[in-house]
Amino acid sequence: NSPVDPWAEPPEKAEEAALRPGALAEFRGQPRVSDQLGLVLEAARARQTTPDHVLLSGPPGLGKTTLAMIIAAEMGSPIRISSGPAIQHAGDLAAILSSLVPGEVFFLDEIHRMSKPAEEMLYLAMEDFRVDVVVGKGPGATAIPIDIPPFTLVGATTRAGLLPGPLRDRFGFTAQLEFYDPADLESIITRSAGVIGVTLARGTATTIAGRSRGTPRIANRLLRRVRDYAQVHHGDGKPVSPRTAAAALDLYEVDPLGLDRLDRAVLDAVCVKFGGGPVGLSTLAISVGEEPQTVEEVAEPFLVRLGFLMRTPRGRIATDRAWNHLGLTPPAPQGA
Ligand code: ADP
Repeated sequence: NSPVDPWAEPPEKAEEAALRPGALAEFRGQPRVSDQLGLVLEAARARQTTPDHVLLSGPPGLGKTTLAMIIAAEMGSPIRISSGPAIQHAGDLAAILSSLVPGEVFFLDEIHRMSKPAEEMLYLAMEDFRVDVVVGKGPGATAIPIDIPPFTLVGATTRAGLLPGPLRDRFGFTAQLEFYDPADLESIITRSAGVIGVTLARGTATTIAGRSRGTPRIANRLLRRVRDYAQVHHGDGKPVSPRTAAAALDLYEVDPLGLDRLDRAVLDAVCVKFGGGPVGLSTLAISVGEEPQTVEEVAEPFLVRLGFLMRTPRGRIATDRAWNHLGLTPPAPQGA
């Protein structure tokens, strides 16, 4: 009878779940996506059918998993969660699909990283709610068709462009999630502060929102770090001031624009090591000690959105704004 349950989720994980909005009405920001999706779900409910398959794309942390869970909750359906890299064999996929209950939501994260045979099996499943399981090898192999219950596939990918056309075409509703406006992040932070029991003074949510890289996951993470800092330095339970929040975020090396260490390393490499570019993705990734995928899907989208980085066919180029942000003088334009 140990007082510590070894199987308990770590506290931050449990908090993470509490922070996830459970209904479309609680989902902040992305007004267009949320209106359109609301309509898809309402129509499906009225017709008593399963909603069309949904494809969600956008950088990590913008709410793709949250939306998949909301779809299931709004339809009163269970949800099954898996990811492209976890499904290497078509058989893995067949096992999941054939065990779904009618109306279940199947959330497939990183859908662009699935193997080709699994992808082809998914086409048939999405269209005809059927899979062909191949038994045997060589000339004696036979395909046994298995019916699967109607389900809603919610696919998530960091970029819709990574998906083959035939797969993309099989989704009835496609939504591109954008980085959040500061006002939406502020409202997410205010809600989250209530959930985790931190009192924020006026203006503190704005300070944290401004440094959250347009991303709710980061907003929630920064809020927790601010809570830690306030507890240790001002453990008096008073509302956390904007100044305390800024001091906490400085300590965690999140700069006033929200750039973190990886973002700055990427900018620094392009400007200083590669003279402003162009530099290819893999060279850039090696020079900052990261996977190309992380540089491309985590760091770059926000740097491009800030107008710091341009992706060109010849490679990545730093803009004058990037040089200025690093406190450096941009090189004179060529030919001047
Ligand atoms: P993704 O699947 O796109 O990587 P998640 O759905 O896991 O992102 O979202 C990351 C975190 O951000 C979640 O824990 C959730 O609490 C929060 N979050 C995301 N979108 C919203 C939103 N629109 N409103 C409130 N919280 C959100």
